[in-house]
Amino acid sequence: MTQPSTLVDLLRERSQLQSDLTAYTFLADGKNESGTLTYATLDLQARAIAAAIQALTARGTNVLVVYPYDAGLEFVSAFFGCLYAGVVAVTDNPPRKPEAIAKLQIRAKASEATVLVSTAGFLEHLKNQMKKNPDLAPYLNQLTWLATDTVPTDQASTWTQPELETDTLAFLQYTSGSTGDPKGVMVTHGNMLHNSKMIYESFGHSDQSQGVIWLPLFHDMGLVGGVLQPLYGGFPVTLMSPIALIQKPILWLEAVSKYGATTSGGPNFAYDLLCQKVKPKQRDQLDLSKWEVAFSGAEPIKADTLDKFVDFFGPCGFRREAFYPCYGMAETTLFISGGLKSESPIVRYLDSTALADNKVVPVEPESDKAQAIIGCGRMWLGDKVAIANPDTLTKCAENQVGEIWVAGDGVGKGYWNRPDVTAEAFQAHLADTGEGPFLRTGDLGFVQDGEVYITGRIKDLMIIWGRNQYPQLIEQTVEQCHPALRPNHGAAFSIPLNGEEHLVIVHEVERNFFRRLPVEEVIGAIRLAIAEDHMAEVYAVLLLKPGAIPKTSSGKIQRRACRTKFLESSFQPVAEWKQETQGNI
Ligand code: ATP
Ligand code: MG
Repeated sequence: MTQPSTLVDLLRERSQLQSDLTAYTFLADGKNESGTLTYATLDLQARAIAAAIQALTARGTNVLVVYPYDAGLEFVSAFFGCLYAGVVAVTDNPPRKPEAIAKLQIRAKASEATVLVSTAGFLEHLKNQMKKNPDLAPYLNQLTWLATDTVPTDQASTWTQPELETDTLAFLQYTSGSTGDPKGVMVTHGNMLHNSKMIYESFGHSDQSQGVIWLPLFHDMGLVGGVLQPLYGGFPVTLMSPIALIQKPILWLEAVSKYGATTSGGPNFAYDLLCQKVKPKQRDQLDLSKWEVAFSGAEPIKADTLDKFVDFFGPCGFRREAFYPCYGMAETTLFISGGLKSESPIVRYLDSTALADNKVVPVEPESDKAQAIIGCGRMWLGDKVAIANPDTLTKCAENQVGEIWVAGDGVGKGYWNRPDVTAEAFQAHLADTGEGPFLRTGDLGFVQDGEVYITGRIKDLMIIWGRNQYPQLIEQTVEQCHPALRPNHGAAFSIPLNGEEHLVIVHEVERNFFRRLPVEEVIGAIRLAIAEDHMAEVYAVLLLKPGAIPKTSSGKIQRRACRTKFLESSFQPVAEWKQETQGNI
């Protein structure tokens, strides 16, 4: 296949070369096949939808693409329909409740979309919600709505192929909103092809690969990794609704086993969830021996999760070498760094006291001070990485922690309609060498022997008693200190008091502990563990009902939102403890 210059060329060529092969299979309930798309049908549907869009709006306009989780194939066709029409897809997660519909309106306004595409069923749902409450989202009503699942395929004959360049905008990819309001990254066809090539090479894909993807399709990992990568590599993928995973995590592994997936993955929490929920009897029915790339990214990777997963799923063929830690973000289309497919993840043990002082000092794994950090691989295809001091903007030495800066053809064109923050993030130059432009990732880490290590995020970093404290490391300590605490459902953040930062822990409790919670014991365990492992004192602890911690639609903890809720006293804790300090917040 020739190297395509746009995603439209890519699908057009695949639809010629392997027209009748199945490209996408969808499991709406996570188990049974609810539909398939061959390359030729996808191309036909994309042309028909594109023609319908072209009849409504001009090239280059922004189109809101919102599909329910059980309409995976309709989403794929509509996404390509937008590309074929030469419009810019603006994806978002499907809102059900009124508050989420109001949020969708915010995205519609901010992105200046003029058309909304979805399924007929979903548009009906929106209409009903708005009938009940006309003030809910009046702006959404002003958009032109198109139900793409009712567009007849013979409309394809009226499609006119737009002239697209590598540099043409393809979609606005919103950041997850973990640290603030989500921002729309302008991603071009060229960005996506560069990133696709990088994933293809680093994951060692071929036309013999097989994907299984449960990740939401509207965001980078699901869209670029799950939908575009198989198309780029010309291999089949089975997509499933993320709701199925949440309701019944074993369904993910049953699909990996049944379809003989070579590539599948998700954030660290998903692997944790499997370790917690799958029973040995269920595990023994699985065959995970074909799994070559179990990618883990989007959030910090825990050494403990990797160990637990390998121990538990080893008997059904899972190999430690299959784990593939990688690092990425919306601003870089998706992928930034990843290791060699055949190698096991690199685990480094660092002196946690030195780390709090931005220094990388190796220690023995048995040391009391050992903090395990997982390597997130290296850069690919000539992309560059630099570690810079975020204050002086000069380059850091190899054994120093600083901000991760990256440069390469996958870096998007900036944030939509946000020239101020775009310049700050996308146009950085090293103050000492003048090298640039780089993208400032906002993440902290270091690079050694070409391997990228991530230690945390600048925006979430706390300074307590004069020492840097990384919230995710404190959260890991907390969730392991008592079985009543629900793993991956806590947040550590600081609040100002008497001119100093004070540590607050909010944490959900497990459902089965809910009625008979040993409050003093849990709070005592949290305080002791933090004192012992992080040399820090806790100011307040709130124990919460399951589901109370604010999260992004991709499942990341929103620490700042937690902090705001704490300061507003709007959490409704099951139990609460506060130090008896006098002072003003
Ligand atoms: P926002 O920018 O709106 O606050 P976000 O940064 O979470 O949200 P994404 O672009 O979806 O939005 O996520 C990228 C971020 O996820 C990275 O900047 C990094 O903080 C984190 N991340 C991604 N991969 C890893 C990894 N392997 N280890 C640790 N953190 C990771
Ligand atoms: Mg971000």
